[in-house]
Amino acid sequence: MQLSIVIPLLNEEKSLPELYNWIIEVMQANNYSYEIIFIDDGSSDHSWKIIKQLSETNTSVKAIHFQKNYGKSQALHAGFLMAQGEVVITMDADLQDNPEEIPDLFNLIKKENYDLVSGWKRKRYDNVITKNLPSKLFNLAARKVSGLPLHDFNCGLKAYSQEVIKQIDVYGEMHRYIPLLAKNAGFHHIAEKEVKHQARKYGETKFGSERFLHGLLDLITIWFISRFGKNPMHLFGGLGILMFFVGFIAALYIGVSKLYHLYHHIPDILVTQNPWFYIALTVMVMGTLLFLAGFIAELILRSQHKTERYKVSKTLNQ
Ligand code: UDP
Ligand code: MG
Repeated sequence: MQLSIVIPLLNEEKSLPELYNWIIEVMQANNYSYEIIFIDDGSSDHSWKIIKQLSETNTSVKAIHFQKNYGKSQALHAGFLMAQGEVVITMDADLQDNPEEIPDLFNLIKKENYDLVSGWKRKRYDNVITKNLPSKLFNLAARKVSGLPLHDFNCGLKAYSQEVIKQIDVYGEMHRYIPLLAKNAGFHHIAEKEVKHQARKYGETKFGSERFLHGLLDLITIWFISRFGKNPMHLFGGLGILMFFVGFIAALYIGVSKLYHLYHHIPDILVTQNPWFYIALTVMVMGTLLFLAGFIAELILRSQHKTERYKVSKTLNQ
């Protein structure tokens, strides 16, 4: 099969029939062998009923229904597990992403051998204040952290090669950073393509403005995990030893100065009246705690080693 179209959705009953017809038109015009995987992320409207009807008329329509709303990342994860196409395309269900972009995206992956091509909604039809501006800021931060020169990390319309989706693990709200997840998994042939964007025709956005705060916190997490996830002691241990050392020097200074005063019979303040005493104390305690945090993180990693230490992409003669 050439193509898997993966579509996460939550309460999009009005858009679904139109979206389906549009995708089918594109599939037939290009003669693709395809599957469309709808992941109903716990809709409370008639979305599932509509998907069921579509699947009855077309066996290439496959679907998963979540018992409750788990979020777009979980929906994508479930869709990726199921997808069998050589090229996998994700798109939103709200008709904001244009199915006519599919052939170009398909060719970029299939013919030009990209691992991942991310859509770029250069001209965006969303609210300027609540979405477009914060999104620019968010993408700037993501570019800096990831080192990937993308303008629109969170674009729902993306194309992947089969290997990529089987290797990345989209969890939490990490759907915003799939290109970075792919890069961390060792896929470097990542590009972006300008795509047409439409205003939302039916229904309303499912993400409020808290998305940007969550997004930035997730960015810190992902940076941290990709940098220190496999060796937390390198960060915590290093910082801990550094802090302990600073504290130790301060304590040494207090001790030496005390001895000096005693030896020369010079009157001296009490150790506890010396501000350096508190600095030494705090910094040494913090250093010890950081070191311990690193040690515990390493122990947790060790206990997980049985499940997943690395991912193999190919083997020979096996
Ligand atoms: N979506 C989902 N689960 C959620 C929230 C959203 O599957 O918990 C789907 C939604 O139905 C749509 C896509 O994710 O197909 C993008 O959501 P939305 O259009 O609300 O985001 P926006 O375009 O406003 O960024
Ligand atoms: Mg949308």
